[in-house]
Order: sequence, then structure tokens, then C-alpha cells
Amino acid sequence: MKLINGKELAKKIREGLKNEVIKLKKRNINPKLAVIMVGHDKASEVYVRNKSKACQEIGIEYEEFLLEATITQKELMDLINNLNERKDVHGILLQSPIPEHLDIREAFNSIDYRKDVDGFNPINVGKLSIGEDCFISCTPYGVIKMLEEYNIPVEGKRAVIIGRSNIVGKPLLQCLLNKNATVTICHSKTKNIEEITREADILVAALGKPKFVKENMVKAGAVVIDVGINRNEEGKLVGDVDFENVSKKASYITPVPGGVGPMTIAMLMSNVVKAARKALKE
Ligand code: NAP
Repeated sequence: MKLINGKELAKKIREGLKNEVIKLKKRNINPKLAVIMVGHDKASEVYVRNKSKACQEIGIEYEEFLLEATITQKELMDLINNLNERKDVHGILLQSPIPEHLDIREAFNSIDYRKDVDGFNPINVGKLSIGEDCFISCTPYGVIKMLEEYNIPVEGKRAVIIGRSNIVGKPLLQCLLNKNATVTICHSKTKNIEEITREADILVAALGKPKFVKENMVKAGAVVIDVGINRNEEGKLVGDVDFENVSKKASYITPVPGGVGPMTIAMLMSNVVKAARKALKE
């Protein structure tokens, strides 16, 4: 079994981006990410802090907009529209969740697709589905990058994803399909799930259920990617895969923590640099 070290790989990607940012700055482009957070969600505060740290490390400018939970939809939309207009802002990220009285879909849809570094805008989603250049949602993008960097073949392989969310499962399905895998997606209504997962050459768990994927659900020699981030009874981070037992059967496996998580932030940074590079061309 080989461990796919997301932490190390993410560090390498951030190093590469650092050099690219230096080059962009020499050409008078200062890559900048604007992050909007509404209310005081504890987990979001941690995610946003990590994103700000990554920007700082790479040399990406970072501007944070912390909005009160009581803001109106119009106030949120006005801010997004203003950021869409600003030439100095290359990437816009709206941290979810936002309070329930606000329409997050309308907000995501209004982010200019050229600044949509999270890849949630329907234009980017559509472009991904027809295989055009676009911003890919950062977690699936990170998973694909891991497979590429470890030279794991995808073409012609049977890939199974557990989870069909708009931010992980569905875009990952498109990414794997674009790389010529035969892809099956499972969800909470799937019957006899273990029969399907046992067919996978590449198995991705993205459902948010601790240690859901057991040894008997995995084919010997499969590549197992664990997207899940859960807290167990002791408050420790655990994935969706029973790592201890599944790792004995897999050819490659990602750990939690230190697997997909750091890759997600690295790919966000990569998307911001890509947006800035495009601004240079324009
Ligand atoms: P989500 O929106 O809650 O979606 C979960 C998906 O899993 C749904 O499609 C659901 O099916 C399916 N599912 C739930 N229980 C199932 C079961 N027993 N059997 C089969 N399918 C089941 O979650 P998400 O946002 O995609 O996140 C998934 C996990 O990844 C979470 O642990 C999250 O914290 C983690 N995550 C990690 C990163 C990272 O950077 N590493 C990024 C994003 C998310 P239905 O559609 O039928 O309800």
C-alpha cells in the first residue's frame, strides 16, 4: 500500500504558485482573493483563517468581508456586484453556510464566472460538463491532481464515487469522465452499495459518515480516496474510510487528516492564480 500524501503534495503546489505570483507581480498583476463570510459559523472561521494563511504564504493579496448574520439579500448581492466590478479583485469566494434567510444559490450564481474560484457558478459547472477550460470546484480538482501527481491511471478504469453533492461528488464525476474513466455515483438511495464499490478500481468516499467504507467494500488493489472530514467521539478528525483495515487492501490510499483537505486549499490558490493570469491576458 502507498500513502498519497496530500499535505506534502499541497506544499509542493503552493511553492510552485509562489514563484508564479512573483512573476505576475513583475508584470504589475497582484493576484487578489476576496472572501465573504456571513455570520459567525465556527467551522467557517477555521476554513477562512486557513485560506488567508495560504494566501499570505503564496503572496496572494487577501481581503475579507465579515458580514453580520442580519444582512439582507440585497446587501449581499450589492457587495458581490461591487467585487465583480473591481479590477484589483481576481477571485471571489462566498464561504458557506450562510444564514437561512439568504439565498445562497442566487449569490453563487451572481459571482462573475471569471472570478468564481470555487467553481460553483453554473457557467463553470456547464463548462466542466462539456470539457471546456473552467474553474473546477477545489476538492474534486484536488482529487484529480493527486491521481495525476502519483501517476495513477484513470483512463478505462472503473471509478465509483459515494456522494452526489454539487461541490464534491457531481463535479468529480465530470472530472473522472473527462479523463475517460467509467464512472458510477452512489448516494443514500443506492441499493447494495457494497456490490458496486467492490467493482471500483478507484473508489472515492465523499459522504460524511465516519469509517463508512469497510474492508469488505473494497476490491484488492483499489485506489481509495477519502474526502470525508468527520469528528469522532474523542473529537479527533476521521475520514469516511476505515483507514486501518482498508489500507491493508488498497494499492493507494489518502489519510485523514493530511489527504484531500490540504489539496482543496492548494487548488483554491491555484484557481486564484489562474484568474489573475487570465486578467493579464485581457
Ligand atoms: P453532502 O452535501 O452532505 O453530501 C453527502 C452525499 O453523500 C449525498 O449525496 C448523500 O446522498 C450521500 N450519502 C449520505 N449518506 C449516505 C449513505 N449512507 N450511503 C450512500 N451515500 C450517502 O456532503 P459534501 O459537502 O459532499 O461532503 C462530504 C464529506 O466530505 C463531508 O465529510 C465533508 O466534511 C467532506 N468534505 C471535505 C472536503 C475536503 O476538503 N477534504 C471538502 C468538502 C467536503 P443523498 O444525495 O441521497 O442525500
